[in-house]
Amino acid sequence: QDKQASDIHQGIRNTLTMLGHKVRKNRIEVVEAFQTDLPKVPILVSEMNQVWTNLLDNAIDVLEKQEGQRLITISTRLEGDFAKINIQDNGPGIPEDILGRIFDPFFTTKEMGKGTGLGLDVVQRIVKQHNGTVRVKSRPGATDFEVCIPMH
Ligand code: ADP
Ligand code: MG
Repeated sequence: QDKQASDIHQGIRNTLTMLGHKVRKNRIEVVEAFQTDLPKVPILVSEMNQVWTNLLDNAIDVLEKQEGQRLITISTRLEGDFAKINIQDNGPGIPEDILGRIFDPFFTTKEMGKGTGLGLDVVQRIVKQHNGTVRVKSRPGATDFEVCIPMH
């Protein structure tokens, strides 16, 4: 597999287009806080699209159950030799006692048949393939997944 210098924003926008129906149906507002001059990042394009899909899917899943404002904020920036991408939602947050397990294969809090518990496992594996990291920060009212991909 060969990494290609790619426009991260294009990949995220393509993913949002794929998820557009779910986003609109649930009246979710998506804010793009992109660093406009972010250089191209060497990635496996379809694998990284899977990363955006899995993270956004989880955000949509929590937001569709909540009353009031439903907001996803996607931000990008170059920080040193890394591209950092944050996908944040204003959902309920992840309880502290499960935070350490969410990346485990087959860990899910979703009802039978709704979640495989593989989404974040796949995210982590793909990000590691890029020598990158994925971290989560969560509190009641906000969850933020940060993907960090080296530029070289
Ligand atoms: P699945 O979506 O099939 O449950 P994932 O690996 O994608 O599996 O996610 C594992 C678990 O992590 C979810 O079941 C949920 O409990 C938690 N989770 C992931 N993303 C979020 C989020 N944005 N807000 C709250 N909980 C989340
Ligand atoms: Mg999932």
